[in-house]
Amino acid sequence: MPTPTGPRKASTRSSVPVSPNGRTGHDPSLLESLLDVMEYSTCVVNGDGDIVATNRAWRQAASGAGGSGLLPVEGPYVDVWAPATGDNRVVAEKISVGLELVLSGKSDTFSIDYAFASGDKERWISLRITPLHEISGAVLSHVDISAATRSARAMSYQSLHDPLTQLPNQDLLRDRLRQALAWAERTGRPVVVAFLSLDGFNRVNERLGHIAGDELLQAVSGRWLALMRSGDTLARFAGDEFVAVWPGVESIDEGEAFVHGLFEALARPFALTGSSMAVSASIGVAVSVPSQSPDDLLQAADAAMAEAKSRGPGHITLHSDALREGIHLRLRTEVELREALKHDELVLHYQPVVDLTRGVTTGVEALVRWQRADGLRMPDTFIPAAEASGLIVPMGVWVLQEACRQGALWRRQGLDLDVAVNLSARQVTDPDVVSIIQDALRRSGLPPQRLMVEVTESTVMEDADAAEVALRAIAALGVTVAIDDFGTGYSSLVYLKRYDLHALKVDRSFVAGMGINAEDDAIVASIINLAGAVGAVCIAEGVETREQHAALVGLGCDYAQGFLFGRPVPAEGLGQALADCARVLAAQPLARTDVPGP
Ligand code: C2E
Ligand code: MG
Ligand code: MG
Repeated sequence: MPTPTGPRKASTRSSVPVSPNGRTGHDPSLLESLLDVMEYSTCVVNGDGDIVATNRAWRQAASGAGGSGLLPVEGPYVDVWAPATGDNRVVAEKISVGLELVLSGKSDTFSIDYAFASGDKERWISLRITPLHEISGAVLSHVDISAATRSARAMSYQSLHDPLTQLPNQDLLRDRLRQALAWAERTGRPVVVAFLSLDGFNRVNERLGHIAGDELLQAVSGRWLALMRSGDTLARFAGDEFVAVWPGVESIDEGEAFVHGLFEALARPFALTGSSMAVSASIGVAVSVPSQSPDDLLQAADAAMAEAKSRGPGHITLHSDALREGIHLRLRTEVELREALKHDELVLHYQPVVDLTRGVTTGVEALVRWQRADGLRMPDTFIPAAEASGLIVPMGVWVLQEACRQGALWRRQGLDLDVAVNLSARQVTDPDVVSIIQDALRRSGLPPQRLMVEVTESTVMEDADAAEVALRAIAALGVTVAIDDFGTGYSSLVYLKRYDLHALKVDRSFVAGMGINAEDDAIVASIINLAGAVGAVCIAEGVETREQHAALVGLGCDYAQGFLFGRPVPAEGLGQALADCARVLAAQPLARTDVPGP
């Protein structure tokens, strides 16, 4: 342990008439009584760094049971200090240098904060060294800042952790990601990030209350946390969203094993407020690439999570370059679509819907298209971007108004057709959905009974309670409600009972398999029966062949739609389309002769 040595600065004002211990030429008792007024442990050292006086606080602390950590012995300060504070060599070195600087007059003051263990507690001391020119020495005062440090640390802990789960929050997560990415740059071993979102968590909150919701979040985070190694991070991102970070991953297999571990941790149900609850998560995974920022990596995992979610609950999706490309494409589409909305580039095409029992066209489905200079774009290429950006809402308003306007116009021209409009999930949960529909009906004069809204099963399941409220309110207007693409989603029988449904539209994939695949025949037959059982009509989509048409008639399906009867056409082409459709229908005998004619 180095002690202050070397030439000492000569005292410039050595006029204090004291002579303590024969060492400094000053009276220590006077010095000590002066020091006693100081509240904190204080000592004075001479030019050699030896303690020559201590104050009462110092002596009391030293004589207290168990000791305070500061000992009132004579000798070089640093030698006294070191064993009392746990021999922290780095701090001892710094104090030694600081004291030397002050004693040699190179520095006016020196301060340092240090910690040491005192019993089972950690104490924090702020040491300040100021020169005492009278004796060419220095005053060392020790302020106990333990309480302040502890509360500052608690505050910084709070500012970096989620209060519910005690997991790192977004700020700390970003910091950990930064460190993990820096580590990846050095080692070449990537960071794997999983973005996790609990499926249907809103429903837990709504059904069982927020306390149960909180309990579930804690239980889930507890299970996941148990799987993290030291150095890994599990953070709560927001609401039901968590992010796991594994730095220095050795191989894809290792990364996969980590992710699957989290997935499988949810396999066992959770015991919540006395009941047992099964929970799944949608997981998006991204693997870092060189020079990636924390936000980019997070965004990649988030995008993969959104992709996983769109596949239904309990899916894992890996963010790939193709997906990354997709995001850029989606962003570009979003920008262009905003312009398209402004410049009236969207158009509706209408596809006939025929009544199989009467052999007539009774309605049309409105299908949106984007008319661009380079051609017509189909909905599959821009609806996802419209949904992701929220543009689907203003776009949906336009579709509804345009479809209602056209429907009302046809009625005035003597064509009484039902008009079906597709609603996406974002539109259904939009609080204004009912007034938007009402407004479109009022402006156009189309009777509500002539309007049908189509929602998919996954839309309904995304937020079943909100969908129920919205669909009931829509039905209360007199508008009919259909479940689109039925059979591809959850096909939950529960919502069939809960909602006031008018129609089930059999997904075209089942119709395509009719006559080829016995399973599809059976599925179509059972959907037709199911519709009957819940008081809804059945509409078969994607009918392309006369055989499918005949089979559907044979099964007693109520309505059908498909290229056989007519492709979607612009409004001005509908007259021709209806005439073509009538010819197809005329060629097919009606099977259910027991059904009264028109
Ligand atoms: P959808 O509501 O199930 O519409 C039926 C889709 O099947 C249409 O595709 C239609 O052209 C196609 N189709 C009809 N008959 C046949 C057939 O016999 N064979 C085959 N292979 N396909 C047939 P489209 O127009 O590309 O629309 C795709 C999807 O985009 C729609 O599926 C709907 O979910 C969505 N969509 C279309 N317009 C809108 C809209 O205005 N708003 C929203 N939210 N979604 C829309
Ligand atoms: Mg549809
Ligand atoms: Mg469909």
